[in-house]
Amino acid sequence: MTNQETIFSKIIRREIPADIVYEDDLALAFRDVHPQAPIHILVIPKQPITKLADATPEDHALMGHLLLTVKRVAEQAGLSNGYRVVINNGSDGGQTVDHLHLHILGGRHMKWPPG
Ligand code: 5GP
Repeated sequence: MTNQETIFSKIIRREIPADIVYEDDLALAFRDVHPQAPIHILVIPKQPITKLADATPEDHALMGHLLLTVKRVAEQAGLSNGYRVVINNGSDGGQTVDHLHLHILGGRHMKWPPG
């Protein structure tokens, strides 16, 4: 399901400011406004898919592109020692913005399990 406006749509359209670190035709990456690690970047599709569970087979290539964008952005950010990639999906997953996003967290050692 693709649907409504979120704050991320406004970031894509440059209607509100964000520290954008990467952009291409399909994806945008910008720094999280409330970083949970020294480096915390969000990678989003420009197409507003609400959440991972709403992705469809038509999104197959886009999903692969988002993961490869994570890899590219993490390299660009200098995260050669590793990083964590997180997708919060829906209410129990802790998702707060209804536009699919992949968190890149790095610059410190991540603990497991997450809370
Ligand atoms: P979620 O909890 O949905 O997985 O993650 C949403 C993330 O978006 C949070 O980490 C939150 O800090 C970030 N966020 C929410 N609003 C904004 C905003 O206006 N700008 C930026 N750069 N990040 C935001």
